[in-house]
Amino acid sequence: MSADRIIPFAFESLPVRGALIQMSRSWRRMQREHDYDTLITESLGHAAAATGLIAQSLKFDGAITLQIKGSGALQMLVMQCTGDLEMRGRASVDEGAASARFSDLTENAHCAITVDAGERPYQGIVAIEGEFLSSSLEHYFDRSVQVPSHVALVADENVAGGVLLQQMPGQEMDEDDWNRLHFILQTLTTRDFDGDAGLKLIGKLFAEDDVRIHEKRTVSFQCRCSDQKVEDVLKMLGEQESREALNANGEIEVVCEYCGEKRLFDSVDVSRLFADNVVTGPRSVQ
Ligand SMILES: [Zn+2]
Repeated sequence: MSADRIIPFAFESLPVRGALIQMSRSWRRMQREHDYDTLITESLGHAAAATGLIAQSLKFDGAITLQIKGSGALQMLVMQCTGDLEMRGRASVDEGAASARFSDLTENAHCAITVDAGERPYQGIVAIEGEFLSSSLEHYFDRSVQVPSHVALVADENVAGGVLLQQMPGQEMDEDDWNRLHFILQTLTTRDFDGDAGLKLIGKLFAEDDVRIHEKRTVSFQCRCSDQKVEDVLKMLGEQESREALNANGEIEVVCEYCGEKRLFDSVDVSRLFADNVVTGPRSVQ
């Protein structure tokens, strides 16, 4: 059984709502075509859990993109999640620059969160500060969205998990309770997310509180690449450049950076792309 899901919940006697995310199969699939080191794996897993939690909190129809860009070893990290909680993501790393800590990895980095719900995309940007992505996201929620939030994120190569707690707008929150919840989240480790832990974990973390659980939602890995999108790129490149890109075997090989799907185009495909009345597609190689 897949344990990849988000469980939303609310506190009965505190003006706080929250959600817990637990990803294993989808998270491993996301790493499959890549060879990330431990620190990058952890950072990407944190981003995956965070992006899923943000998408859940927005309840929208569209896609959200979390993007980290910097001048440290982590050149770029992209994580995307749709309103249906379909996710993909990847990281580009400067192999020469070894980093021991997230703060080195993300030197001078910014995190941009773009919400694209069809009309005008909305983007919020926050500087990456501190040892973890979670603290930067708390700043993002405080400043950009004006919703005081606690964010806890954990990840290793097998699991990406996290909890988001947010104060309800317009309601008075007791400072001690809010701090207590903060300290509870600080105890989270990847081991808490072993196996089928979701519901039990919420019960364990908030044993002192009355928590109402809402219906869980499935999280999945789903790439958004398609033959059509690659063909559009080749069309933008132009016929001459596309022909020049044919390799010794007379093929253009295009590999998706997210899912690793390989698409091959030969000279017949190139002719087809730049002719009218397009009918057939390229060969897909698993
Ligand atoms: Zn893909």
